[in-house]
Amino acid sequence: MQTDVIVVGAGPIGLMLAGELRLAGVRTLVLEKHEQPREVPKAGGLGGQILELLRYRGLLERFRAASPNPDPAPRFPFGGLDVDLTKSADSPLHAMVLPQRLLEQILDERAAELGAEVRRGHPMVGLEQDATTVTAEVRGPDGPYRVTARYLVGCDGSRSRVRELAGIGWPGTTYPEVHRLAQVTVPDSLTRFDNGDLDVPGVGRVRTGFTRTGRGMFALGPDLDVLSIYTAEDEAGEYDDNEPMTLDELRDSIRRVLGGDLPLGEPRRLSRWQFQARLAERYRDGRVLLAGDAAHLLPATGAALNLGMLDAVNLAWKLAADVDGHAPDGLLDTYQSERTLAASRALLQTRAQVALRRGQDPAADALREVVQELLTDEPAARRIGEMIAGSDVRYPVPGSGHHALTGTFAPDLGVDDLLHAARPVLLVLAERPDLLDAARGVPPHVDVRVVPTEDRPADALLIRPDAHIAWAAAVDEPADTAVPSLREALTHWFGAALEPAVPS
Ligand SMILES: Cc1cc2nc3c(=O)[nH]c(=O)nc-3n(C[C@H](O)[C@H](O)[C@H](O)COP(=O)(O)OP(=O)(O)OC[C@H]3O[C@@H](n4cnc5c(N)ncnc54)[C@H](O)[C@@H]3O)c2cc1C
Repeated sequence: MQTDVIVVGAGPIGLMLAGELRLAGVRTLVLEKHEQPREVPKAGGLGGQILELLRYRGLLERFRAASPNPDPAPRFPFGGLDVDLTKSADSPLHAMVLPQRLLEQILDERAAELGAEVRRGHPMVGLEQDATTVTAEVRGPDGPYRVTARYLVGCDGSRSRVRELAGIGWPGTTYPEVHRLAQVTVPDSLTRFDNGDLDVPGVGRVRTGFTRTGRGMFALGPDLDVLSIYTAEDEAGEYDDNEPMTLDELRDSIRRVLGGDLPLGEPRRLSRWQFQARLAERYRDGRVLLAGDAAHLLPATGAALNLGMLDAVNLAWKLAADVDGHAPDGLLDTYQSERTLAASRALLQTRAQVALRRGQDPAADALREVVQELLTDEPAARRIGEMIAGSDVRYPVPGSGHHALTGTFAPDLGVDDLLHAARPVLLVLAERPDLLDAARGVPPHVDVRVVPTEDRPADALLIRPDAHIAWAAAVDEPADTAVPSLREALTHWFGAALEPAVPS
């Protein structure tokens, strides 16, 4: 065996996974087909629960330092409407401006610091597996070679070769709308009014903001120093996200949508995207797994990185437990059940955005108006904010009599370095000698922390490396119910039971 886990693809999800695997001590090899990091602009920012997870890992400051606008904003687009949580004291949703190129750079540096090997210019071209190993065929710069590991994870994007070779179906919908976003310099030949509106030859005055036309949508940013343009229109056929958009392509789209020729200066940023709603039929085929865009595509912006990076966080500790030999039966299968639950929720809210965004008739206008009105109510905005953030996902937890927190993402418990090392933690928050006694029986790969806390949500919590709560003892819960359920949770998630003796 040459390595423990092969990650195919050094996009954001593959690099995140590599970092998390290395944190858990897993030997990791990343194969990337391109020789250099890509320049095609993709995401402009990162939002949702992943920001909280990065904070729990002690990484958020590093991302903030790279962000042109580091203060996460509690507002988000939703199907062309606005979810504004700026007035909420504790918004469930934050987004940070961070171009994907910078995001990938930080994740790449972190993976390298932690000891992951990233081979660029090494496409995976084939794979085979048996009961104990998986082998990737690679076309390296010095010729083809093979590399064998215990597991291989396809983080190779929406056109995943890994998914195809594993024979995993990819059902879903491609929506006909094509979106183009550009920033170009302002040419001398352009007439612009003081308030930013444009005079487009053959069309007349075009306002800043969104203009719906019979052919689609045109939008103009208010900035006078640069032309920020967006078009959306229906087209037949599919584009490859990795194929850059050209200025001519943008010009043609503006002509179709607006009905006139808009003079354009030099391009600063050109991007195009299409929306698909797809979910892989399975996330696993034996020793081959999928994560990120290889596993799901969402038909709205702003949620894909959150979903994909959290796939990586969920998968890494389970693979690490398996490689280390202490994974209980079925642990790796919970990757699929938990993350398809999260993906289904994300698909639900993004498909709803399609319905809001695409309608062109008065009924659709009425729907948008009604929903926007509802979103001015804080509880409704909060609910949608939780859906976008992915914080409404509660993983199923076996057993009975659960605390309200089990299965949920851990709230901020005020213990700064709790999850920096991505190890499971039994966190005791109360003066409870009975629970402390029981904690002596936890296995060595589970940390025990005692942090007596006045205002606490529970007396003790068992927290997984991905920050989800596996077990909780309610405040003042007696040991005769708390200890057996702790034993059950430890066995289920971490493959180890406490000593049977319950302390007196
Ligand atoms: C214009 C645009 C704007 C976007 N905006 C947002 C946004 O605001 N917020 C958001 O959350 N998401 C956004 N997205 C989506 C986001 O970019 C993707 O969800 C994200 O890139 C997915 O990451 P990934 O690592 O799964 O896949 P990818 O980024 O596609 O990376 C896959 C990697 O695998 C490599 N690869 C492929 N095949 C092989 C092979 N056979 N061998 C080796 N390597 C291989 C590729 O070269 C690539 O580096 C946007 C996308 C686009 C196109």
